[in-house]
Amino acid sequence: MRLFFCNVDKLCEATSVTKNTVPFLSALRSEPAPWIAAWGVLALAGTLLLCRIELNAIRLGFETDSRIAHRLLTQRTVQHDAILATLEASNGTDAHGCAASAYKQVAIIYPQVLSATCRPTSEHHLDRLAESEDLSRLHHRATVDSRDFAQGRYWLVLAGATRTWALHIDIRKMIPRGEWPAAPLHIDLHSDAQTLALQQTGNTEGLWNLKFEKHLSSDTQPFDLRIRRSLQWGDLPWLKAGIWLLMLSVAFIIAANVRRQVVGRSRAEGLLRLRRAERLNTMGELAAGVAHELNQPLTAILANCQAARRLLDQPQTDAAVLREALSRAVEQARRASTVVNRFRTALEHPNAPGEVRPVVLATAVDRVLHLLEPEIRQRQVTVKRSETPQPLLVLADPVALDQILHNLLLNALQAMEAVASTSRVLHIDIARDGAHAVLKVADSGPGIQPHQLPQLFDPFFTTKPAGLGLGLTLCERLIESMGGRIAGSNRATGGAEFMVVLVHAATEAAK
Ligand code: ADP
Repeated sequence: MRLFFCNVDKLCEATSVTKNTVPFLSALRSEPAPWIAAWGVLALAGTLLLCRIELNAIRLGFETDSRIAHRLLTQRTVQHDAILATLEASNGTDAHGCAASAYKQVAIIYPQVLSATCRPTSEHHLDRLAESEDLSRLHHRATVDSRDFAQGRYWLVLAGATRTWALHIDIRKMIPRGEWPAAPLHIDLHSDAQTLALQQTGNTEGLWNLKFEKHLSSDTQPFDLRIRRSLQWGDLPWLKAGIWLLMLSVAFIIAANVRRQVVGRSRAEGLLRLRRAERLNTMGELAAGVAHELNQPLTAILANCQAARRLLDQPQTDAAVLREALSRAVEQARRASTVVNRFRTALEHPNAPGEVRPVVLATAVDRVLHLLEPEIRQRQVTVKRSETPQPLLVLADPVALDQILHNLLLNALQAMEAVASTSRVLHIDIARDGAHAVLKVADSGPGIQPHQLPQLFDPFFTTKPAGLGLGLTLCERLIESMGGRIAGSNRATGGAEFMVVLVHAATEAAK
């Protein structure tokens, strides 16, 4: 009889497997869809940001390179003007008054100067530079003869009062190879309708094209500089994006695991709390104890009665021995009766119900649905809820209320296993009916056999192979202890419906 006198809650704790045990492994299963969606959004946003930063860096680099190329070419053109000015200022010593040594040195010092010439103005009409010479004289500055521009050369002519100087310039040598920007650029120089390609690296057309166009800042050689860079898929920061995706994935795996552990722990704690509260589930153990305790007196009663019958069969019955045998049988019967009475007392007066206080009914439903979430997912059940616009407060022991909801919802989920997964719908309705709140839990399962309806709340009534038949008994007892009632029925559209009526807290407070 040890079981009769020990703390019932502790017994529940010790009873590790009950009919309502939810497999913890399934509780730890995650919901992948929101995680995958969040990962996708962050992965895309991060990759786009990296591409944007990279493209921006390339654009800034391109602009810097272009400005450097523009400055280098401009410096050279200014240098050409300076050379001519220096030559003009020099006093000639040869027959024409030209400074022969000076202008011959120029071609040696400056690699882009193919040749430098000087001749008296009187001879100007004799060669191809005559036109440029006239223009130079007219504008009082050097002028360009760019007829050979497309071949990479031009003449820069400066006409003085008595002498004319001309520089023959190789455009490609204006900037030494090593001074050009290293980036893959297309650099063209334009003069009138002629174009000279100074550098051609990379593709001409790509996914994105960067362009730079500017005149050289020179009055005498105002060529147009055009620079292009085309960006391909390969210019995108694939390595950085790969590292970002890897880091993001690792972070998500860690976060998902942490969350799964937290949710799993809270669910396990919730279930443990409920299991502790399921005082009547110990009835299985109590029943086992009762069977054990009854076995002994019943065996003794049987033995004493059989002895009495044997005594009566004898020709001369010893009345004292017969009385003794029957007295022992009576004594054992009393003992059996005491055992039964104790069992009934334990059933009728389980541990005192907890404190009854106002509880939001919908919040309790949320809490229990969260606990049963793995069970719902595993059975592919659709949950449909309807509630009052204002949350309904009921007078209840919160733990007992959770226990009642857990029993009803789990029964409904188990009942729906008998129908196809596509038609499994769990309805939870919360409504107000005057001074009461009405909660209905309905399912689309096979329903309850009509002849079983009156037995639903009887202790040990069950149709499940491993059922105890104490869940609804417990629900009824707990609900009644909170001043409510429960009823079970079949729905017209199929499936079972359990209606729980509880006292509305606000109405009670107003009394
Ligand atoms: P158990 O779940 O251990 O059988 P319960 O007291 O919770 O004990 O339920 C008693 C019986 O009531 C169940 O065995 C089942 O036959 C019936 N029952 C309860 N809920 C439903 C339901 N939603 N649909 C059909 N039958 C149900």
